[in-house]
Amino acid sequence: MALVSEKHVAAHHRFQRLHARDETPTMSSWAKKKGAKQECKDYSLPSSAKLQKIYPHGNKIANIVDGDNEAQSLWKEIQSSGIIPSQVKVKKGTEDHMGVKNDGYDADSDPDCWWSASGCTKPKAKGLSKDIYECPEPHTWGLTFDDGPNCGHNEFYDYLKDNQLKATLFYIGANVRDYPLQAQRGLADGHDICLHTWSHHYMTTLSDEQVFAELYYSMRIVKDVLGITTRCWRPPFGDVDDRVRAIASGLGLRTIIWDRDTDDWDIKPDGNSPTQKIDSNYQKIIDLSSQGKVNDKGVVVLTHEINSHTMQEFMKMFPKVKKAYKNVVPLTACMNVTTPYVEEDIQYPVFKDFISGKVQPKGLPDMDSYEIAVASKLKITKESDQNTPGGFSASSPQAASTSEDSQPKDSQPKDSQPNESKPDDNKQNSSESEPKDESSPPKNASERLRVASSLMLALAASVGVVLWW
Ligand SMILES: [Zn+2]
Repeated sequence: MALVSEKHVAAHHRFQRLHARDETPTMSSWAKKKGAKQECKDYSLPSSAKLQKIYPHGNKIANIVDGDNEAQSLWKEIQSSGIIPSQVKVKKGTEDHMGVKNDGYDADSDPDCWWSASGCTKPKAKGLSKDIYECPEPHTWGLTFDDGPNCGHNEFYDYLKDNQLKATLFYIGANVRDYPLQAQRGLADGHDICLHTWSHHYMTTLSDEQVFAELYYSMRIVKDVLGITTRCWRPPFGDVDDRVRAIASGLGLRTIIWDRDTDDWDIKPDGNSPTQKIDSNYQKIIDLSSQGKVNDKGVVVLTHEINSHTMQEFMKMFPKVKKAYKNVVPLTACMNVTTPYVEEDIQYPVFKDFISGKVQPKGLPDMDSYEIAVASKLKITKESDQNTPGGFSASSPQAASTSEDSQPKDSQPKDSQPNESKPDDNKQNSSESEPKDESSPPKNASERLRVASSLMLALAASVGVVLWW
C-alpha cells in the first residue's frame, strides 16, 4: 500500500502507553537518534496521557471537545464578532473531506475568494488581510515545508542545520501532539513555526465550528508543547475561502499560500510521480533564476517533510537551488517579520541580518527544560487588532501585484487529488499551471493529503470519490 510510511507504524501504536522504564526522553536526546526506526518509536512524557485525552481524537476532523469551556467561549466570541461572512457557503466536500466539489460555484466572479477555484488571495469580505504567497526579496527562495513534524526527520533537520538553513514549517496539530519532541526540535533549531490544521482536510468543506476547532486545537497544542502562540497558518491543499479566512483571522492567524509548487508530496514510492518528474518540477523553479524571473522578487516554494522521500529529494536538489538562488530563507526573513509569535520576546532576524549569517532567532525557550503545558490559555488578538497582522505588515506582500483582482480564467487548479484510482486523463501537471506572469498569485491547488495516521491507511484502502473540475 503506497501510503504506508514509517509514520504510520508509530501512529498505529499511539495508544499503547509505554512503561516508564527508561528515563524520560528530551528534545536533545531524541534529536540524536538516527533512522526512522529509532526516531519513530513511541515514547511517553509526563504530559502524554493528558494530551491524548484533552485533544480531538486521532487525526479525525476536529470539533470542540466536550466540556472544553475555554474553547466554547472563544468560539462564541468569534461568532458574535460578526467577522464570519454569512454569504459564504460551506463547500461541498467528498464524504471523507479529502476532496471538494465545484458544485456550480462561479469561479469567474469568485464571490468567496476561493483559492481552490480561482487562486484568489485578496479577500472580498471585509476586514480580512491579503494572503501571503510570495517573497518580496529578489533572487530569493522562500523555504517552506508542510505536514510535519515527521517523526523521522532528524537526518533532514541535521542537513538544514549543517547548511545554515531555516524554513517556515507548517505543522499539523495532531502530529505535534503525537511527536512533541520532534516538534520541539523544529523550534529549537530556529525554524519558524506556523500551523497546518489539526487533521489536514479540505477546510472549506467543514462547518464553521470545525474550522475553528481545527485551528484552535493546533494553535493550543503548539502553545502547550513549544510555548509559542503562532500567528500564521497554511490551508491544506490551499483550500481557503473568505469564511475560513475569517475564522482564522478571529484567532489571530494570517493565511499563507505559496507561488511555486514542487508537487513533491506525490513522489514515489509513497506517491505516484517518478523521482525524475519531481526533479524536473524543482528544476523549473531553479531555472527561474537564470531566466531572470526572480530579479524583481523571489518565490515561496511549497515542499514537504511528509515522508523520507520528500525530505531526501530536497537534500538532493538543494545544491542546485543554492547555486541558482542568492538566498534561501524562511518567510520571516523574506518579509522582515521579527516577531512571528504572540510572545514578542522571541525575535527572528530580518532579511539583511539573516543573509549576513545571523540566522538564529533570539529568546527561544530552552526546549530541554521546557515543561509541556496542558491546555494552555491562549492569548488571542484577532488579526484586525494586530499592528502587524500575523507579524507581517498590513499591506504585505509589498511587492503585491496589481493584477490580483483579474485572474486569468485558466488559473483554476485542475489537479486536485492524490487518489490512486484517479483516471490519468484527469491528472494535470502542476507545473503546467504555474503562474504565467510573475505577478500572478498561486494557482495550483496541488497540495495533497497524507497525514501521519492510521486514518490514511483506511483512506488508502477505501479510496473514495474525489473532485477535479
Ligand atoms: Zn499539507
